Amino acid sequence: MKILLMGPPGAGKGSQSAKLVKEYQLTSISTGEMFREAARNNEPLGIEAMKYIHRGDLVSDEITNEVVRKRLLESDAERCFLLDGYPRTVSQAQALDAMLLSMDSKLTAVINIVVDKEAILERMVGRRVCKKCGLTYHVSFKPPKKPGICDDCGGELYQRVDDQPESVRNRLNIYERKTKPIVDYYSGRGILKNVDGMQSFEEVYKDIINALGEVQ
Ligand SMILES: [Zn+2]
Repeated sequence: MKILLMGPPGAGKGSQSAKLVKEYQLTSISTGEMFREAARNNEPLGIEAMKYIHRGDLVSDEITNEVVRKRLLESDAERCFLLDGYPRTVSQAQALDAMLLSMDSKLTAVINIVVDKEAILERMVGRRVCKKCGLTYHVSFKPPKKPGICDDCGGELYQRVDDQPESVRNRLNIYERKTKPIVDYYSGRGILKNVDGMQSFEEVYKDIINALGEVQ
């Protein structure tokens, strides 16, 4: 299974992909995670990428394609993987196709999580992350027992720079302009499945599983 999970920022891609990766033992390839990791390790590429991310902009095709290409060549990505946060532009989608083709491979499924823009804005602006363990909360939908403190580890909760309203709006606009055309790019191939992302986490997950069954 080689899956691409799509959907605007805040559509719940992160938590859905975490569950899919666990249940199906897929190799998770998340460009956002890879960039953050590289930045934590003070790698120049990671620091450069974070400049784009903090502005709410897309990291350049050049940097992103290179990071993904290297990752796909690792042995754990050979059989099954789940891509999250990549490709973000049609040009990246074309680059991905070329990479996979050169490895005698191709995508099995493209799952597109469809959500309402206003609801997304509310979801994202209220999101808080634990500094210590990375657990995610929401000020209205999943509040911690004590405001600002992680239930699990007692760590301090903070708002990611890219979850601030200005950045979220910028990311949603970019998504409409650059990422949505990818849906059209894949739609002619019979591997694209739309899933209603306005349902509960479990319902969305169930729909994703059903959609994966249809393309196998
Ligand atoms: Zn914590």
